[in-house]
Amino acid sequence: MLHILKLDLGGIPQSWVNAEEATKHYAEGSISWTLGKPIAVMRGGISRNTGKQSLIELHSIFATKGAARINLFEVIPAITKSKLYRRDQGFCAYCAHHVSELDSEAEHIIPASRGGSYSWMNLVISCRACNQKKGNRTPERAGMSLMYAPYIPSLYEDMILKGRHILADQMEFLTANLPKNSRLIQKIAVSKNHDSPLSDPLRS
Ligand SMILES: [Zn+2]
Repeated sequence: MLHILKLDLGGIPQSWVNAEEATKHYAEGSISWTLGKPIAVMRGGISRNTGKQSLIELHSIFATKGAARINLFEVIPAITKSKLYRRDQGFCAYCAHHVSELDSEAEHIIPASRGGSYSWMNLVISCRACNQKKGNRTPERAGMSLMYAPYIPSLYEDMILKGRHILADQMEFLTANLPKNSRLIQKIAVSKNHDSPLSDPLRS
């Protein structure tokens, strides 16, 4: 399935949309500009004058005419297990082993029973063994230390985390807006240089 990056007028990412949703924007005339090469052609309505069917070229990135009413930079991206897995690149925060998404667990650093929240700063990816070993304890109590620190993804990082089959020009647009110290940039550089299965989470 095609995933097209939808931006607002100012170029701020809004969401990933499918071909049908993108076509709707083209048909309504609510697109202000596009980036990237056309990636698909959709059939539109039949013109009364010419009797010919119109064709709509979909680009990998488009901007709508509207500007977002809320400041998306102030919004904390919603957390999901799948995005958490990609943020932590599939590595257990305690033993640093790589785990498959299926075998990974979203681990509360401060246990939920002790008031720890289901949030970006209190969750890390863990293997089952470490999660069980830690149990209902804080890392200090369990004598287990974190191999990396959790963080809240930026808006652009979040778009990468929730994207599927991100195209090269979409990735270029999003990474151009990441802070230089973004761990996702380092990740992307690694996956470009080494075609190892470990560098796959962002491309799955
Ligand atoms: Zn582990």
